[in-house]
Amino acid sequence: MDYRHLLEEVYQEVLSLDLKGTIATYIPELANVDESKFGISLITTQGAVFSVGNTEEKFSIQSISKVFALAVVYPILKESLWERVGVEPSGNPFNSLIRLENENGVPRNPLINSGALVITDCLREIFENPIDTVLEFIRKVSNTPDIDYCEATAQSELTHSSRNKALAYFIKSYGNIKSDVEELIESYSYQCSIEMTCTELARAFLLFANTGVNFYTNEELLTKSQSKRINAIMQTCGFYDEAGDFAFKVGLPGKSGVGGGIAAVLPGKFSVVVWSPLLNEKGNSTKGMKALELLTTKLGYSVF
Ligand code: GLU
Repeated sequence: MDYRHLLEEVYQEVLSLDLKGTIATYIPELANVDESKFGISLITTQGAVFSVGNTEEKFSIQSISKVFALAVVYPILKESLWERVGVEPSGNPFNSLIRLENENGVPRNPLINSGALVITDCLREIFENPIDTVLEFIRKVSNTPDIDYCEATAQSELTHSSRNKALAYFIKSYGNIKSDVEELIESYSYQCSIEMTCTELARAFLLFANTGVNFYTNEELLTKSQSKRINAIMQTCGFYDEAGDFAFKVGLPGKSGVGGGIAAVLPGKFSVVVWSPLLNEKGNSTKGMKALELLTTKLGYSVF
């Protein structure tokens, strides 16, 4: 497959469409980004790297970090994890409180904020330095030791975290969060502030294209079943209330973040990351969604 040519074609076609969108501003620091940035990196499970556009600039991975936190916790807690968080799509915005009361404080899935807060709580119960554990995991799977948090973004989120605190206190009232909420939100905000380039993130996502085996060390970090299940959760829950549309148009397990990144995999074949900060009304990158739709359409295959 001539991925170089394919990415170039997708990139030019998306640019020609002049797609609009808005930068996330509810975390003020995220607004300080050049809205014209656009990059795509694809890495095959043989390790061949293909990149076009702004693929070597760091961006805020935001909710994409939720997949890594899940990949740290799941092999430790195993299936008991699903007593505290479900695996059903929410059909609601990422920071919604709406279903929590009917479902007794058990969030629908680990990739929306409520579920990610429960995962962060699990991390805090298991590890002394929970957030450094997630950061180290990302450094290891991306084979990039200098990946780090962005202090300004973390602080910016911390001072605008009423909604996440409300979610955490509500879940805590059902006993499904044990941590001190202020400390929990601090851990969560630092995790979301991690910055990576498209290429670094595509390297890290190779884990999910490679049945849970770290491509760079050959270490099995997830069992085949755990890797398959994380991909299933990404497929059904990775795109806020647009997961169905993403499955329909793109057909890859993936996760988006309000920093404008989308990371996805075709298991056994490749990982791919697109970054463009302009978001649609559901919070997904407009250019990112279109680029991945064109990619699998031109390829003629997806997981379906
Ligand atoms: N840190 C963001 C929040 O909790 C993440 C949102 C996202 O990327 O979906 O609001």
